[in-house]
Amino acid sequence: MSFDEICSICSLPKDICRCQELAKSEQRIKVHTERRKWGREVTLVSGIDSREISLSELVTKLKNKLACGGSAKDGVILLMGDHRHRLREVLAELGFPSDNIDIS
Ligand SMILES: [Zn+2]
Repeated sequence: MSFDEICSICSLPKDICRCQELAKSEQRIKVHTERRKWGREVTLVSGIDSREISLSELVTKLKNKLACGGSAKDGVILLMGDHRHRLREVLAELGFPSDNIDIS
């Protein structure tokens, strides 16, 4: 088994470790949109602790579910377009409690 498959927090194999699930329930997520200078709207998802949650994995899942482009940088996920109306549901599907998601 490679090092990558062992959780660094609890030392259990990642497929049975619950640390990510536990961490997800503790995130306070903020969602808002911004209009960038080229006139396109982007949705920013912040407040997720990137030491606990893999943002690159999360952004890949969000891009698939929302069928949009996006990236993760400096602890903030950026999605192309306005996805506020769907993000609560999509993040809840991924294990983030919808009560902890603040959409403005
Ligand atoms: Zn663990």
